[in-house]
Amino acid sequence: MDGRHIQTVDGNTVLNVARQNRIYIPTLCYHPKTRQAGKCRMCVVEVERMPGLQTACSLAAREGMVIHTSTQRVVETRKMIVELLLANGKHNCIACEANGACELQEVAYRLGIEKPSFPIAERDMPVDTSCPMIIRDMNKCIHCYRCVNGCNNIVVNEVLEMGYRGSRMTVVCDTDKPMGESSCVVCGECVQLCPTGALVEKKAMGKGREWDTNQTRTTCPYCGVGCQIRLHVRDNEIIKVTGEENVEPNFGTLCVKGRFGYDFVHSPHRLRKPLLRKNGRLEEVSWDAALDFTAEKLLEIKKTSGPGSIVGIGCARSTNESNYVMMKFMRAVVGTNNVDHCART
Ligand code: SF4
Ligand code: SF4
Ligand code: SF4
Repeated sequence: MDGRHIQTVDGNTVLNVARQNRIYIPTLCYHPKTRQAGKCRMCVVEVERMPGLQTACSLAAREGMVIHTSTQRVVETRKMIVELLLANGKHNCIACEANGACELQEVAYRLGIEKPSFPIAERDMPVDTSCPMIIRDMNKCIHCYRCVNGCNNIVVNEVLEMGYRGSRMTVVCDTDKPMGESSCVVCGECVQLCPTGALVEKKAMGKGREWDTNQTRTTCPYCGVGCQIRLHVRDNEIIKVTGEENVEPNFGTLCVKGRFGYDFVHSPHRLRKPLLRKNGRLEEVSWDAALDFTAEKLLEIKKTSGPGSIVGIGCARSTNESNYVMMKFMRAVVGTNNVDHCART
């Protein structure tokens, strides 16, 4: 490949071989989760003794192949594809939420394209804002099918499909309903997979560019699955959550709570101090006072009604260690086996 002798396993795609050896081949429709796509043709390469240009994402590497990834013919073809995509959409990067995180913009930058060299047939489709969490602007859609594959084959919610034909072709929800009225469960898989600004997180709009944010990998606090998430933080505020790609257990996929339910972190209504009810009103108290009161009540109940009248419910948002300590406390200190977990109830 490009004059280098490379060894790989039989059947590995040419694209994988290139990436494993740090050779740049641009892609738009390919994503490691939705895999071989062969739709956008951005990844074309020249292979000696093979006719025409070949798509690297769908071509299996074979013994003795001689591959050229950046000949003039290849680069000109890629430029033409990007120019056609730019000319057939409505792309204003300055105002676009995806600016800085857009794969189409990145490829155009790498190929040195400032604007298409032919007239722009700007699309003017209404932007779908009906979903509480996702904005769909099909004027920026490049028909890569990543969202369609993700919705149908990864999360298997079967909401998205490509509808209409020719220049009217677009991604539709169910029978072309607004997303907010469709059977969409708002998992956000399609947003995570979209390479452009066609699908974006509504709550993150205008809150910060990719380069403005600090990103931290952490574990979703909602349930015991332990999905790996990435917090996008600007000025100490979480502005977006994405699934962490390529790691277990979720490989980037999240549910609606994990992806969009992060506002509680900054809620002014969060309990920050223990509260005790006194004369019918909740009042702030110290941790010592709250723990003393709880211990007194538990002892009283144990004495009057026995340890079997006390139940401990573990919390799915707590760590394994905290749940283990709670279980030990109930069995060894309180003296009951009445231990359960909210994820089972
Ligand atoms: S989708 Fe990408 S190329 Fe299109 S306007 Fe947004 S950032 Fe620019
Ligand atoms: S949010 Fe989830 S269910 Fe809704 S369209 Fe996207 S992938 Fe499908
Ligand atoms: S909405 Fe995004 S992911 Fe879906 S086809 Fe269009 S560009 Fe691709």
